[in-house]
Amino acid sequence: MTCQNYQDLMMGYLDDELSSEQRRTFEEHLESCEGCRSEFEQFKKLKRITDSVQLAEPEDEMWQKYWGGVYNRFERGIGWILMSVAGIALLIYGGFKAVEAIVKDPTVGLMLKIGILAFIGGVAILFVSILRERLYFWKRDRYKDVQK
Ligand SMILES: [Zn+2]
Repeated sequence: MTCQNYQDLMMGYLDDELSSEQRRTFEEHLESCEGCRSEFEQFKKLKRITDSVQLAEPEDEMWQKYWGGVYNRFERGIGWILMSVAGIALLIYGGFKAVEAIVKDPTVGLMLKIGILAFIGGVAILFVSILRERLYFWKRDRYKDVQK
C-alpha cells in the first residue's frame, strides 16, 4: 500500500469503520511513516472539531441536559407561567385600552385603525401559539419523567 492508500483510510480509522486487520496495518504504517503520522494528527484535530459541531446540533438533547434538573424545569415552568399570565393580562388590558382609544379617536384613519387592530390580533395569536407550544413541551417533559 502507498501512503495515499493509508491516508484514504484515516477517516475510516477515526470513524471506527475499518476491520481489525486494516486497523493493524494502518497503525503499523503510522509507526514507520512520519508523513502519514503528521497527516493523521491533522485528521484527528479536524475530526474533533467536526464532532463537536455535530454534538451541538441535536438541540433537543442539549436542552434536555441543560434543563434536565428538576430545579431548572421548575424555575422555567414558574417563569413561563408568570410571564404568560402577566403577558396575557397586559395584552388584554392594553388591547382593550388601545382599541377603545383608536375607535373613539376620529382623527385616526380607518386604514390605520384596521392596521393596528390586525397587529394586536397578530401579536395575541402568536403569543397564544407560543404559550401552547410551551405547555405542550412542558407536559411532555413531565411525561418523560414518569416513563423513566
Ligand atoms: Zn505513509
